[in-house]
Amino acid sequence: MDPDEALRRIAFLLEWRGASPYRVRAFHTAADAVRDLPPGPVDAARAGRLRGVGPVTADVIAQASTGAVPSYLAHLEAEADPAARAGWDLAAASTGDCHLHSDWSDGGSPVEDMADAARALGHQWAVLTDHSPRLTIAHGLSAERLESQLEAVAAVNSGLGPDFRLLTGIECDILEDGSLDQDEGLLGRLDVVVASVHSKLRSEPEPMTARLLAAVSNPHVDVLGHCTGRIITGRGRPQSRFDAEAVFAACAEAGTAVEINCRPERRDPPDDLLAQAAAAGCRFAVDTDAHAPEQLRWQSTGYARAARFGLGADRLITTWPLGRLLKSRSG
Ligand SMILES: [Zn+2]
Ligand SMILES: [Zn+2]
Repeated sequence: MDPDEALRRIAFLLEWRGASPYRVRAFHTAADAVRDLPPGPVDAARAGRLRGVGPVTADVIAQASTGAVPSYLAHLEAEADPAARAGWDLAAASTGDCHLHSDWSDGGSPVEDMADAARALGHQWAVLTDHSPRLTIAHGLSAERLESQLEAVAAVNSGLGPDFRLLTGIECDILEDGSLDQDEGLLGRLDVVVASVHSKLRSEPEPMTARLLAAVSNPHVDVLGHCTGRIITGRGRPQSRFDAEAVFAACAEAGTAVEINCRPERRDPPDDLLAQAAAAGCRFAVDTDAHAPEQLRWQSTGYARAARFGLGADRLITTWPLGRLLKSRSG
């Protein structure tokens, strides 16, 4: 046990218990701060001088820095149910993230910053998935801009070591007729394609089902993004209606992963559909849909949900090594 792991594990267990996001964030912030510490024992007074570290997190750091399990963590562990442990094991086994945005579309940060943050979290890979042309409100990328983004990604990778790779990708709109909002040849050149519905979310079930079936069966598509489109915070948005049994069966058949979207306002699919997709034998991608570096941490909430539904690492493509991920892509 080291301070970073202890703090992140506490954050995970607090989240599992439904603690406030602010309380959870305090432990993540402290975990970021301990990166500046040299290895070896640190006393609480010194830990407390780190930015963003308070008395509780300073004690955790001090205890963990000696290799001990901090008492705060031991207390949470004693009360944790087996599924919480399974969720943590999945989160710890995470290798990547299939869905994140940069300032090329509606994200707030440069590509390099997103890649650095993913790498710092211990990911081996992450997929840059900026929006497609029709999503003008989110500055969707034209074919030309996506072509230049491929070069930008190559440049970022050339500056990184062999332990991490930023993959090319897109969050491609699923148009009303089920076709994809980007040039076919270009889609074929990308490492990972996430396909999502962003328009006409309140369609009748029949056309929405046909639309999703066409998309998930498209050989270019690897992941079905936030399948219901629901928003559960603020004024909210109801979930799209479609024949989930048919859509998840098609995903299982085509090997298209169903996304477990970790954004707090989405948490998509809802529990009943997640259970249905799990029963259908689907694969899943636990994705943050991060629009800023710190949002990449949201992934643990998705792994917690996966664990609750009994999903193991083999069904979660975001725990797969890079080679296996890319191999599954080429069929
Ligand atoms: Zn989206
Ligand atoms: Zn997105």
